[in-house]
Amino acid sequence: MEIFKGKVICQGMTLGPIHVFLKDDFTVNRMQIDNPENEIKRMHEAKEKAISEIQDLYDKALANVGEESAAIFEVHSMMIQDGDYLDAIENIINVESVNAEYAVITVRDQFAKMFRNMDSDYMKEREVDVIDVSNRLVGCLRGDNPNKNDLAVPSIVVADDLTPSDTIRLEKSKILAFVTKKGASNSHTAILARTMNIPAITGMTFDINSLVSGTEAIVDATKGVVVMEPDEAYKNKAIVEIKREKEKRDTLLKYKGLDNVTLSGKRINLYANIGCIEDLDYALDNDAGGIGLFRSEFLYIGRSSLPEEEEQYDTYKQAIETLKGKKLIIRTLDIGADKKADYLDIGHEENPALGFRAIRLCLKRPSIFKTQLRAIYRAASHGPVSLMFPMIISADEVMQIKSMCLEAKDSLEKDGLPYGDVEMGIMIETPAAVMISDELAKLVDFFSIGTNDLTQYTLAIDRQNENLEDFYNPHHKAILKMIKIVVDNAHKEGKWVGICGELAADTTLTETFIEMGIDELSVSAGAVLAVREAIRKAK
Ligand code: PEP
Ligand code: MG
Repeated sequence: MEIFKGKVICQGMTLGPIHVFLKDDFTVNRMQIDNPENEIKRMHEAKEKAISEIQDLYDKALANVGEESAAIFEVHSMMIQDGDYLDAIENIINVESVNAEYAVITVRDQFAKMFRNMDSDYMKEREVDVIDVSNRLVGCLRGDNPNKNDLAVPSIVVADDLTPSDTIRLEKSKILAFVTKKGASNSHTAILARTMNIPAITGMTFDINSLVSGTEAIVDATKGVVVMEPDEAYKNKAIVEIKREKEKRDTLLKYKGLDNVTLSGKRINLYANIGCIEDLDYALDNDAGGIGLFRSEFLYIGRSSLPEEEEQYDTYKQAIETLKGKKLIIRTLDIGADKKADYLDIGHEENPALGFRAIRLCLKRPSIFKTQLRAIYRAASHGPVSLMFPMIISADEVMQIKSMCLEAKDSLEKDGLPYGDVEMGIMIETPAAVMISDELAKLVDFFSIGTNDLTQYTLAIDRQNENLEDFYNPHHKAILKMIKIVVDNAHKEGKWVGICGELAADTTLTETFIEMGIDELSVSAGAVLAVREAIRKAK
């Protein structure tokens, strides 16, 4: 039995086998070989295996997300059988007498550069495909298991760190807990864990290489403790504790179906945050009044190309139909910083949190933004939708956004496609937006305060940096004063204002927020009933 300590990201307790999350590593050594002919034969055998993997992916995608999205795997299949590509690999093996892995990586980099430098956007996008295909080929040469992170049984996922795209690829119903070495409590992986209400602990000190998948463990994400190979006494204690936890959660169930109303009769809208359509059921199950933040960027990550208008439209429409008239606030693409998509080719940034992200990327790459706006406006013809824009720093940005919204609607009109009207709001998550919130309030229908980023930018503390956890204080007076300023400025213009950052779920502040005049709180689905309890107990 071994005990490790860490920091709680999402509370809960579980007992089960661990799954050591294996990261892809495509560093290969250049090795001299004696028989190039054999090496080429080995490469072709690996290629056949890769083709069959790609076919499997195609079939899965076709069944789950439709033909349009599956088409990318047809491109991959063609690419890996392309004569020029294969000739280039064979040539390097023959001329340099080197191992196939090295030849593939060399050709990958040459082709990637060639695609990157092409004029057509379509060809530029093929860079990520050639990288993906080549990495798969290297994996097949090495005998890697492509499904190495598929969870056969419900498991505790243990990793050095998990990016949002790692997390999103895992089958949610089989994750018992997340346990990581790295990752700050307001990182997006942490937020995903909370959205899914999965117990999670970070800051563990173990050496991941010493852990073996299948080992039994207890995760106590109340105390921040992980026990590997617990003895019987520990296990029995944990089983009792898990039961008690469940009973505690069950007592909150009595708040289902009740109003979010304080003792003095003030009503608050209480919504849930979601990252994908699958989270909706969980939000509704927990009796959220609607969705106060749909982090739409999760539609864009964990894949190799942009989601097209039709795919997005289908997703938003499905959300609207599932919600049956309840509020749905879609936040437009907030990609960048820790939420990465290689195909966007943002390049290296010294300070990604202060970089090319969110609305900045959308305004600079209007075709990406327009596609999303068109999809949302089209979906709005099926039910109520609110649009919300992230990382705003100026009134000028809002004006540009508005004009792009008009263009999107005009283009739909021209195409004869039905669309609906939307309520339009912005996130207040920069100190700049707070300071000009009087001006911004005149331009939009609502504000939603993103306290995660607002804390990061106000306190100058990278929310991703786990070493700064002790300094990252969303209760800082500066943050609370800012919230009050924003509420007052919104109300002066008759606009509503909510909080959708993690702070919204902090029940020690619920009463303070209500006193300040907050109209809405949007929290992880698992926190809805606890916040309702706090609202109902507030004066
Ligand atoms: C926030 O910054 O508070 C927020 C809700 O947005 P995100 O956490 O997705 O950056
Ligand atoms: Mg934010």
